[in-house]
Amino acid sequence: MSGATLPQVVRTRAQLREALAEAPRPIGLVPTMGALHEGHASLIQRARRENATVLISIFVNPRQFNELSDFRKYPRDEAADRRLADSAGADIIWIPSVADVYPAGFQTTVTVGALTEPLEGAARPGHFEGVTTIVAILLGLAGAERAYFGQKDAQQLLVIRRMATDLGIGTEIVACPIVREPDGLAMSSRNVRLTPEARAAAPVLRQALLAARARYEAGERDGEALRAAMREMLAKEPLAEPEYVSCASPETLNELDRFDGPALVSMAVRFGSVRLIDNEPLA
Ligand code: AMP
Repeated sequence: MSGATLPQVVRTRAQLREALAEAPRPIGLVPTMGALHEGHASLIQRARRENATVLISIFVNPRQFNELSDFRKYPRDEAADRRLADSAGADIIWIPSVADVYPAGFQTTVTVGALTEPLEGAARPGHFEGVTTIVAILLGLAGAERAYFGQKDAQQLLVIRRMATDLGIGTEIVACPIVREPDGLAMSSRNVRLTPEARAAAPVLRQALLAARARYEAGERDGEALRAAMREMLAKEPLAEPEYVSCASPETLNELDRFDGPALVSMAVRFGSVRLIDNEPLA
C-alpha cells in the first residue's frame, strides 16, 4: 500500500525519537539487514495490517557476523530497499550508522543461554550474542507495541522470544511464515551471491525438508531416521555441502531420538562461500 508520501528516512537516535513522538500508535517494528526481498515485504505487509505506524530498520550489524568476509560481502542497496519498503507499506525507514547504534564506550552484551548453543549457535560462534544485543537495542529505542520476525530464522525467533520474556521487554514478538521462490528456495539476501549452478542446486534444501515431512506424515517418529532422510536427499546434489542437519524439539532445540510430539527439522548447507539455512516445523 503505497501512500501519497514516501516513507520518512531517519538515521540518528534523535531523528527516530522525533519521528516516533508524532507517530500514531500502535507501532510495528520490522528489523532487517537490508537487501530487501519478498520475505521482508511479507513482514512489512503484516505489520501494515496490524499497526497504525510501520517502522522498518535497516542495519547490517557487524557484531552478528562471525566471518568478516560474509559481513563485507553482504549485499547493500539503500535505494532499492527504500522502494521496496515503500511499496510494502512502511511509514518510517530507520537506517542508523554503526556509531549511532553502538555509542562510544559501548560495553553491554545480551546473552541468552542454552537455546543459543546448538545449530546456528554452534556453527557461528558469537552470532547470537550479536543478534540479541542488537535486537535489545532496536526494541529499546523503538518502543514498538509489536516486532515482526521470520520463521526463516527459527532459532533466532525462539532466542528473541526468550530474551523478551526474560528481560520483561513489552514488545510483542510476532512470527511470520517463510516466503519461498517458486522452486521452493527460501528467499534470502544471500541468494544473489549463488553462482547459476549453485542457484539451480539450492532448492535441494527444501526437497530435503519435504522428504523429512513425508516420513513424518507417514508416521516416522525417530529423529535419526528423519535426519538420515534429509542427508540422503542433500547427498544427491554434489554442490551442496551440509554443515548440519537437525531434527530437534521446537521448544528446547535439543536433538530428538524417538519422540511423539512436534519437531523442528532444519539445516545449514554451504554452496561454496554462500551458506544457506532452512527449516520446517513438523506438527
Ligand atoms: P535479515 O534481513 O536477513 O536479517 O532478515 C530480517 C527479517 O526478515 C528476519 O526476521 C528474517 O527471519 C526475516 N526473513 C528473511 N527471509 C525471510 C523469508 N524468506 N521469509 C520470511 N521471513 C524472512
